[in-house]
Amino acid sequence: MAHIAVDRRGAGGWEDVLGDDAAQVGPGAEWRSQLHEMALAQFHHAADVLDLDEAVRARLLAPRRALVVNFPVRMDDGAVRMFTGYRVQHTLTLGPTKGGIRFAPAVSLGECAALAMWMTLKCALLGLPFGGAKGGVRCDPNRLSRGELERVTRRYVSELIPIIGPDRDIAAPDMATGEREMAWFMDTYSQQVGHSVPEIVTGKPVVLGGTEGRAAATGLGVVYCIEAALERRGERVAGQRVALQGFGNVGAIVARELHARGAHVVAVGDVSGGVVDLAGLDVPALLMWFASGDGPRFLRDWPEGVHVARTGALEVPCDIVIPAALERQINAARAEHMDCRMVVEGANGPTTPEADAILAERGIHVIPDVLANAGGVTVSYYEWVQDQQKLSWDGDEVRRRLSAQMRAALARVADAAERLDTDWRTASQAVAVERIAEASRLRAIYP
Ligand code: NAD
Repeated sequence: MAHIAVDRRGAGGWEDVLGDDAAQVGPGAEWRSQLHEMALAQFHHAADVLDLDEAVRARLLAPRRALVVNFPVRMDDGAVRMFTGYRVQHTLTLGPTKGGIRFAPAVSLGECAALAMWMTLKCALLGLPFGGAKGGVRCDPNRLSRGELERVTRRYVSELIPIIGPDRDIAAPDMATGEREMAWFMDTYSQQVGHSVPEIVTGKPVVLGGTEGRAAATGLGVVYCIEAALERRGERVAGQRVALQGFGNVGAIVARELHARGAHVVAVGDVSGGVVDLAGLDVPALLMWFASGDGPRFLRDWPEGVHVARTGALEVPCDIVIPAALERQINAARAEHMDCRMVVEGANGPTTPEADAILAERGIHVIPDVLANAGGVTVSYYEWVQDQQKLSWDGDEVRRRLSAQMRAALARVADAAERLDTDWRTASQAVAVERIAEASRLRAIYP
């Protein structure tokens, strides 16, 4: 009798039911995406180098939980449109989860899963008491009005209430979100629970409990990494020729700070195209132009320099290329043509594993995303700490702590690369995984 019951439950026949979809099921199928495959390939490499315990490896492969929401928003013309939003929490071992919210047309469960995993590694590498998370709404923010964006943000936040909280999951800005959206986030959550909860989100305006230095933190962290990496080679930032893809929260600050330190920014690119001037672009003028005008500005309308395609900046001859826009921008074909000495990943996941191998072969040093762009989450952690304690640090204090923490992380990565005889991406992930593995072992399995 028992034998028959087992047969009925699944011993055979499923191939016929599933047909071609058979390959799509199985553990982890929910998260399957190009970006998650890429995150897993990087993680497996680090785990192999560490000879990581199989049980710990298995626990880190897939996110712990995720929420997918579909919600209606009234548009300016009176029509109602449905939007899809996501929140993925990767690991709960080291504390509450932490990660940004992005508004972009390609946002998906698989993309959020990859980005949440990288957040886990980033937090562990920097020694922050968080696991990783990521979320977003699939939309084209450039085609939404301010009012529509506010209604999308507020409804998305209220849909997330069951899984977020200042000690559960804390949000932050990412692509196409910034202080304004974080203020709406904080207000919506606070309205729902009946009192102000600034620590539900970081990257808020200072007057609402944000911290000095958060807006510039990711870009500054990239710059501190470049300074420290160059120092190890006996070089300085002044005189370096730099090309950037992305001129938003991250890219514009990196350009501003490197220019202020005497570097020549020879190319920048955004979604509309790129601008090149091998003698060095006038970065302050560019920043002023971006800040002026009523609507969003795009580089294709900048009147100076030579205009190229939006990926053109990545192939301009220079010393340092900084991808600070999207993932998977440096693929194998592009890696063959790049003409630089160093790639510093301001964006998350900008280099495919195939491109990584080509860059290594060509002697181009990569400072990986989990290290290079960790300044944002590090200052987010400072913001959360200040909110919890109801006190505030000044900008100098924030920058001093950030510089020390980024430099210490970079030194840990460089040491691990030597100890494990590997590249910096694998080394940075290995340092992070060692920390998570230790925490997992000590907490053990419940019950
Ligand atoms: P942003 O929206 O402020 O800026 C994105 C920039 O990329 C814009 O200049 C945009 O025009 C450009 N861009 C978009 N699509 C493009 C395309 N197809 N080709 C070329 N350029 C394109 O976003 P951001 O906050 O600066 O984030 C950029 C990257 O940095 C993302 O990968 C994000 O995950 C990562 N990051 C951001 C933070 C943060 O604190 N904001 C922290 C860590 C990592």
